Amino acid sequence: MSLAPFQLLRPRTLPDALGMLQEHSGSIRVLAGGTDLLPSMRQKLFEPKYVLDLRRLDELNGIRETEQGIEIGAVTTLHEIEHSELLRERYPVLVEAAETVASPVLRNMGTIGGNICLDTRCLWYNQSLAWRKSCGFCIKKDGDLCHVAPGGTKCCHEALEWPCRRSSDRHHCHESRASTGERYRRNDFRQSNDSNDCGISRRTGSAHRKTFNYLRTHARVPP
Ligand SMILES: Cc1cc2nc3c(=O)[nH]c(=O)nc-3n(C[C@H](O)[C@H](O)[C@H](O)COP(=O)(O)OP(=O)(O)OC[C@H]3O[C@@H](n4cnc5c(N)ncnc54)[C@H](O)[C@@H]3O)c2cc1C
Ligand code: SF4
Repeated sequence: MSLAPFQLLRPRTLPDALGMLQEHSGSIRVLAGGTDLLPSMRQKLFEPKYVLDLRRLDELNGIRETEQGIEIGAVTTLHEIEHSELLRERYPVLVEAAETVASPVLRNMGTIGGNICLDTRCLWYNQSLAWRKSCGFCIKKDGDLCHVAPGGTKCCHEALEWPCRRSSDRHHCHESRASTGERYRRNDFRQSNDSNDCGISRRTGSAHRKTFNYLRTHARVPP
Protein backbone atom coordinates (compact mmCIF):
# COMPACT_ATOMS: atom_id res chain seq x y z
CA MET A 1 0.00 0.00 0.00
CA SER A 2 1.82 3.06 -1.24
CA LEU A 3 1.39 6.66 -0.16
CA ALA A 4 -0.09 9.06 -2.67
CA PRO A 5 2.10 12.15 -3.27
CA PHE A 6 1.56 15.10 -0.91
CA GLN A 7 3.39 18.27 0.14
CA LEU A 8 4.84 18.30 3.66
CA LEU A 9 4.57 21.61 5.53
CA ARG A 10 6.75 22.13 8.63
CA PRO A 11 5.87 25.42 10.35
CA ARG A 12 7.99 26.66 13.27
CA THR A 13 5.40 28.87 14.94
CA LEU A 14 1.77 28.43 15.90
CA PRO A 15 0.56 31.48 13.87
CA ASP A 16 2.31 30.07 10.76
CA ALA A 17 0.66 26.68 11.35
CA LEU A 18 -2.78 28.24 11.77
CA GLY A 19 -2.27 30.29 8.60
CA MET A 20 -1.38 27.15 6.60
CA LEU A 21 -4.39 25.29 7.98
CA GLN A 22 -6.66 28.12 6.92
CA GLU A 23 -5.04 28.52 3.51
CA HIS A 24 -5.35 24.82 2.62
CA SER A 25 -8.56 24.11 4.47
CA GLY A 26 -10.27 21.01 3.05
CA SER A 27 -7.10 19.56 1.49
CA ILE A 28 -4.78 19.40 4.50
CA ARG A 29 -4.22 16.93 7.37
CA VAL A 30 -2.30 17.44 10.58
CA LEU A 31 0.58 15.06 11.36
CA ALA A 32 1.79 14.43 14.93
CA GLY A 33 3.40 11.01 15.60
CA GLY A 34 1.99 9.58 12.36
CA THR A 35 1.09 6.20 13.92
CA ASP A 36 -2.50 6.50 12.74
CA LEU A 37 -2.39 9.08 9.96
CA LEU A 38 0.22 7.40 7.77
CA PRO A 39 -1.41 3.92 7.79
CA SER A 40 -4.76 5.62 7.05
CA MET A 41 -3.21 7.45 4.11
CA ARG A 42 -1.78 4.17 2.84
CA GLN A 43 -5.24 2.64 3.11
CA LYS A 44 -6.52 5.56 0.98
CA LEU A 45 -8.90 6.63 3.75
CA PHE A 46 -7.43 10.14 3.49
CA GLU A 47 -5.73 11.59 0.43
CA PRO A 48 -4.66 15.09 1.49
CA LYS A 49 -2.69 17.38 -0.82
CA TYR A 50 -0.88 18.89 2.17
CA VAL A 51 0.32 17.39 5.45
CA LEU A 52 1.20 19.79 8.25
CA ASP A 53 3.82 18.46 10.68
CA LEU A 54 3.23 19.76 14.24
CA ARG A 55 6.39 18.37 15.77
CA ARG A 56 8.49 21.52 15.45
CA LEU A 57 5.99 23.58 17.43
CA ASP A 58 7.54 23.82 20.89
CA GLU A 59 4.41 25.57 22.23
CA LEU A 60 2.51 22.31 21.75
CA ASN A 61 4.98 20.14 23.62
CA GLY A 62 5.22 19.33 27.32
CA ILE A 63 3.34 19.00 30.58
CA ARG A 64 2.99 22.18 32.65
CA GLU A 65 1.33 23.15 35.88
CA THR A 66 -0.90 26.20 35.54
CA GLU A 67 -3.23 28.07 37.88
CA GLN A 68 -6.17 26.07 36.50
CA GLY A 69 -4.56 22.66 36.79
CA ILE A 70 -2.22 20.86 34.44
CA GLU A 71 -1.80 21.62 30.76
CA ILE A 72 -0.66 18.91 28.37
CA GLY A 73 0.57 20.04 24.96
CA ALA A 74 -1.03 18.23 22.04
CA VAL A 75 2.26 16.79 20.74
CA THR A 76 3.30 15.40 24.12
CA THR A 77 3.91 11.70 23.57
CA LEU A 78 2.11 8.94 25.43
CA HIS A 79 5.57 7.87 26.67
CA GLU A 80 6.06 11.29 28.33
CA ILE A 81 2.62 11.02 29.97
CA GLU A 82 3.38 7.52 31.14
CA HIS A 83 6.64 8.69 32.80
CA SER A 84 5.47 12.04 34.20
CA GLU A 85 5.87 12.10 37.98
CA LEU A 86 3.54 15.10 38.18
CA LEU A 87 0.74 13.27 36.38
CA ARG A 88 1.37 10.06 38.29
CA GLU A 89 0.95 11.94 41.53
CA ARG A 90 -2.03 14.09 40.54
CA TYR A 91 -3.86 12.18 37.77
CA PRO A 92 -2.77 8.55 38.05
CA VAL A 93 -5.70 7.31 35.96
CA LEU A 94 -4.29 9.15 32.93
CA VAL A 95 -0.90 7.51 33.47
CA GLU A 96 -2.56 4.11 33.92
CA ALA A 97 -4.48 4.57 30.67
CA ALA A 98 -1.41 5.79 28.74
CA GLU A 99 0.70 2.83 29.79
CA THR A 100 -1.86 0.35 28.42
CA VAL A 101 -1.74 1.77 24.90
CA ALA A 102 -0.18 -0.40 22.18
CA SER A 103 3.57 -1.00 22.61
CA PRO A 104 6.53 1.09 23.87
CA VAL A 105 7.55 1.95 20.29
CA LEU A 106 4.08 3.27 19.48
CA ARG A 107 3.90 5.18 22.77
CA ASN A 108 7.24 6.81 21.92
CA MET A 109 5.78 8.16 18.68
CA GLY A 110 2.05 8.55 19.39
CA THR A 111 0.89 11.82 20.95
CA ILE A 112 -2.02 12.66 23.24
CA GLY A 113 -3.44 15.03 20.58
CA GLY A 114 -3.34 12.26 17.97
CA ASN A 115 -4.87 9.77 20.37
CA ILE A 116 -7.87 12.05 20.96
CA CYS A 117 -8.22 13.33 17.40
CA LEU A 118 -7.68 10.14 15.45
CA ASP A 119 -10.46 9.04 13.18
CA THR A 120 -12.91 6.36 14.22
CA ARG A 121 -11.65 2.81 14.34
CA CYS A 122 -14.31 0.59 12.83
CA LEU A 123 -13.07 -2.81 11.72
CA TRP A 124 -15.08 -2.45 8.53
CA TYR A 125 -13.57 0.94 7.75
CA ASN A 126 -9.93 0.85 8.84
CA GLN A 127 -9.00 -1.48 5.99
CA SER A 128 -7.23 -1.31 2.66
CA LEU A 129 -9.00 -0.01 -0.42
CA ALA A 130 -9.13 -3.52 -1.90
CA TRP A 131 -10.69 -4.95 1.30
CA ARG A 132 -13.32 -2.19 1.50
CA LYS A 133 -14.11 -2.52 -2.17
CA SER A 134 -14.66 -6.28 -1.90
CA CYS A 135 -16.97 -5.97 1.16
CA GLY A 136 -18.84 -2.95 -0.15
CA PHE A 137 -17.98 0.65 0.72
CA CYS A 138 -19.80 2.01 3.78
CA ILE A 139 -21.48 5.32 4.60
CA LYS A 140 -18.34 6.75 6.18
CA LYS A 141 -16.51 6.68 2.87
CA ASP A 142 -17.73 6.18 -0.67
CA GLY A 143 -20.78 3.97 0.15
CA ASP A 144 -24.35 4.06 1.45
CA LEU A 145 -24.60 1.09 3.81
CA CYS A 146 -23.41 0.34 7.32
CA HIS A 147 -22.04 -3.13 8.08
CA VAL A 148 -22.33 -2.63 11.84
CA ALA A 149 -25.95 -1.41 11.85
CA PRO A 150 -27.53 -2.78 8.66
CA GLY A 151 -30.32 -0.47 7.51
CA GLY A 152 -28.79 2.46 9.37
CA THR A 153 -28.45 5.77 7.60
CA LYS A 154 -25.70 7.22 9.81
CA CYS A 155 -22.27 5.93 10.77
CA CYS A 156 -22.76 4.80 14.36
CA HIS A 157 -19.07 5.38 15.10
CA GLU A 158 -19.50 9.08 14.29
CA ALA A 159 -22.14 9.38 16.99
CA LEU A 160 -19.60 8.19 19.55
CA GLU A 161 -17.01 10.83 18.73
CA TRP A 162 -15.91 12.94 21.66
CA PRO A 163 -16.75 16.63 21.53
CA CYS A 164 -13.12 17.35 22.45
CA ARG A 165 -11.92 15.84 19.16
CA ARG A 166 -12.37 19.32 17.79
CA SER A 167 -9.91 20.91 20.19
CA SER A 168 -6.42 20.35 19.00
CA ASP A 169 -3.75 22.33 20.77
CA ARG A 170 -3.72 21.65 24.51
CA HIS A 171 -5.62 19.44 26.89
CA HIS A 172 -6.41 20.47 30.43
CA CYS A 173 -6.90 18.37 33.55
CA HIS A 174 -9.01 20.40 35.94
CA GLU A 175 -10.12 17.92 38.59
CA SER A 176 -8.11 17.63 41.75
CA ARG A 177 -7.36 14.09 42.69
CA ALA A 178 -7.74 14.84 46.41
CA SER A 179 -11.41 13.85 46.60
CA THR A 180 -11.52 11.31 43.79
CA GLY A 181 -10.80 7.62 43.46
CA GLU A 182 -9.96 6.90 39.84
CA ARG A 183 -9.11 3.65 38.09
CA TYR A 184 -8.53 2.64 34.48
CA ARG A 185 -8.87 -0.94 33.30
CA ARG A 186 -8.20 -2.31 29.85
CA ASN A 187 -9.65 -5.51 28.48
CA ASP A 188 -7.96 -7.03 25.51
CA PHE A 189 -9.46 -10.33 24.45
CA ARG A 190 -6.62 -11.16 22.06
CA GLN A 191 -3.81 -10.06 24.43
CA SER A 192 -2.13 -8.28 21.54
CA ASN A 193 -0.60 -4.86 21.01
CA ASP A 194 -3.55 -3.80 18.90
CA SER A 195 -6.15 -1.24 20.03
CA ASN A 196 -7.95 -2.45 23.11
CA ASP A 197 -11.32 -4.16 22.81
CA CYS A 198 -12.77 -2.57 25.90
CA GLY A 199 -11.66 0.19 28.28
CA ILE A 200 -13.30 1.32 31.48
CA SER A 201 -12.45 4.34 33.60
CA ARG A 202 -14.22 4.95 36.88
CA ARG A 203 -14.13 7.93 39.17
CA THR A 204 -15.85 8.18 42.53
CA GLY A 205 -15.73 11.06 44.95
CA SER A 206 -17.68 13.85 46.52
CA ALA A 207 -18.32 17.48 45.74
CA HIS A 208 -20.75 19.94 47.24
CA ARG A 209 -21.78 17.30 49.82
CA LYS A 210 -22.86 14.90 47.07
CA THR A 211 -21.25 11.61 46.23
CA PHE A 212 -20.73 10.91 42.56
CA ASN A 213 -19.85 7.90 40.49
CA TYR A 214 -18.68 8.48 36.95
CA LEU A 215 -18.09 5.60 34.61
CA ARG A 216 -16.83 5.84 31.04
CA THR A 217 -16.54 2.76 28.87
CA HIS A 218 -15.73 2.01 25.32
CA ALA A 219 -15.79 -1.22 23.42
CA ARG A 220 -15.38 -2.36 19.86
CA VAL A 221 -17.13 -5.30 18.35
CA PRO A 222 -15.30 -7.48 15.84
CA PRO A 223 -17.18 -8.14 12.59
C1 LIG B 1 -0.98 -1.12 16.71
C2 LIG B 1 -1.69 0.00 17.42
C3 LIG B 1 -2.28 -0.22 18.66
C4 LIG B 1 -2.95 0.80 19.32
N1 LIG B 1 -3.53 0.57 20.53
C5 LIG B 1 -4.19 1.55 21.18
C6 LIG B 1 -4.80 1.32 22.44
O1 LIG B 1 -4.72 0.24 22.99
N2 LIG B 1 -5.45 2.36 23.03
C7 LIG B 1 -5.53 3.59 22.44
O2 LIG B 1 -6.13 4.52 23.01
N3 LIG B 1 -4.96 3.84 21.25
C8 LIG B 1 -4.31 2.83 20.61
N4 LIG B 1 -3.74 3.09 19.40
C9 LIG B 1 -3.90 4.40 18.83
C10 LIG B 1 -2.69 5.27 19.19
O3 LIG B 1 -2.85 5.72 20.51
C11 LIG B 1 -2.70 6.39 18.23
O4 LIG B 1 -2.29 5.85 16.97
C12 LIG B 1 -1.76 7.54 18.58
O5 LIG B 1 -1.98 8.05 19.87
C13 LIG B 1 -2.02 8.64 17.59
O6 LIG B 1 -1.11 9.66 17.86
P1 LIG B 1 -0.18 10.22 16.70
O7 LIG B 1 0.56 11.34 17.33
O8 LIG B 1 0.64 9.14 16.07
O9 LIG B 1 -1.28 10.74 15.71
P2 LIG B 1 -1.22 10.88 14.13
O10 LIG B 1 -1.23 9.54 13.48
O11 LIG B 1 -0.15 11.83 13.73
O12 LIG B 1 -2.64 11.59 13.91
C14 LIG B 1 -3.84 10.89 14.17
C15 LIG B 1 -5.03 11.73 13.68
O13 LIG B 1 -5.23 12.85 14.53
C16 LIG B 1 -5.04 14.07 13.82
N5 LIG B 1 -4.26 14.90 14.73
C17 LIG B 1 -3.09 14.58 15.34
N6 LIG B 1 -2.74 15.56 16.18
C18 LIG B 1 -3.69 16.51 16.08
C19 LIG B 1 -3.87 17.78 16.69
N7 LIG B 1 -3.01 18.25 17.60
N8 LIG B 1 -4.96 18.50 16.35
C20 LIG B 1 -5.86 18.02 15.43
N9 LIG B 1 -5.75 16.82 14.82
C21 LIG B 1 -4.67 16.09 15.15
C22 LIG B 1 -4.30 13.71 12.54
O14 LIG B 1 -4.60 14.60 11.48
C23 LIG B 1 -4.84 12.32 12.27
O15 LIG B 1 -6.10 12.38 11.64
C24 LIG B 1 -3.04 2.09 18.73
C25 LIG B 1 -2.42 2.34 17.49
C26 LIG B 1 -1.75 1.31 16.84
C27 LIG B 1 -1.10 1.60 15.51
S1 SF4 C 1 -20.04 2.03 11.74
FE1 SF4 C 1 -20.87 1.52 9.70
S2 SF4 C 1 -20.72 3.41 8.47
FE2 SF4 C 1 -19.44 3.69 10.32
S3 SF4 C 1 -17.37 3.08 9.66
FE3 SF4 C 1 -18.34 1.23 10.51
S4 SF4 C 1 -19.32 0.17 8.77
FE4 SF4 C 1 -18.83 2.28 8.15
